[in-house]
Amino acid sequence: MNSGGLVIESISKSFGTYTALQHINVTIPKGKFTCLLGPSGCGKTTLLRIVAGLEQSDQGRIIHEGQDITGLRPAKRNFGIVFQSYALFPNLTVKDNIAYGLKGKMPRKQIQERVREMLELVGLAGTEARYPAQLSGGQQQRVALARAIALSPDVLLLDEPLSALDAKVRDKLRHQLRELQQKLGITMIMVTHDQEEALTMADQIVVMDHGRIMQCGTPQNVYDQPSSPFVADFIGAINFIPAEVIKQNKDNKQLAIRPEHISLDTTAAVPEEGLISGYVQHVEFRGTSYRIDLQLADVQGRPTDYRIAIDIASEAARRKDWTSPSLMSFRLNPEHIL
Ligand code: ATP
Repeated sequence: MNSGGLVIESISKSFGTYTALQHINVTIPKGKFTCLLGPSGCGKTTLLRIVAGLEQSDQGRIIHEGQDITGLRPAKRNFGIVFQSYALFPNLTVKDNIAYGLKGKMPRKQIQERVREMLELVGLAGTEARYPAQLSGGQQQRVALARAIALSPDVLLLDEPLSALDAKVRDKLRHQLRELQQKLGITMIMVTHDQEEALTMADQIVVMDHGRIMQCGTPQNVYDQPSSPFVADFIGAINFIPAEVIKQNKDNKQLAIRPEHISLDTTAAVPEEGLISGYVQHVEFRGTSYRIDLQLADVQGRPTDYRIAIDIASEAARRKDWTSPSLMSFRLNPEHIL
């Protein structure tokens, strides 16, 4: 275990009769970017607030760098927080917003230097005299980031910091935030419900559902080896295909496969092993994938009553003539069946 990190140990929390978190155990490695990912209401924000000290857990401990900080007030933890709403002081300039938390902690000259340094870091040099209302949403969030980082926090906690921004700005800021994290080597924990955000930014993803951890691992790990149908479905696109698995003594009633591991097989005239064959009823273009509504065929190639939807990667589907009424076959790459 990384002793320099943050250890969340058997944390539970209820609000009245509602259990928001159940025995959460996870280690946040020092200097890395961890995302808490899960659907709305799964308890991500509650966990982040407990780490920040803004909320008390009913059970469990938070250990930081070997020290039990469970009962420590937020101000004593030296953790920075950035929220979805930028929470800047509207009546203070950019410069004064960033300098706010530094007052009394260092001499004035040094504060000025630090503010300048922070503005440069987040790419906002030249905006020091402006007020928050004179900045775009993305710029305001960068000021909020600069303000939090100026205090040199041991851990930076981010609660959906990018979700209020439009897609283009969000993309750019994702990249900038990740770069900043790597450059400064700050430990960051970010709450998000956006799987793409977690996949592109995190060193470690903690997937949560109903107050529990479903899986914890690297982005590649949770994508390639999801531990449950929930994780497979929540992260990335996936096909669940009704099936009886007769080999390997498994008794699964469905198999799971990602769109990029399905290819079109143009040579098969009748269904054969390793193929899913049927008649195309409907095709929907979805950008990076196509959704094919397929009426399954029996072993003789006759249509059955079963219909399934298959998502396949665009690359494989783009040049196909989908209006053809003949039998269409899809090959599942057996190495990637989950
Ligand atoms: P979202 O992405 O929608 O913010 P979340 O995963 O961050 O969701 P939390 O905000 O942690 O979820 O909330 C988890 C559950 O606990 C929710 O059902 C919420 O209604 C409940 N909850 C959170 N705070 C309180 C509170 N102070 N009092 C009562 N219930 C609460």
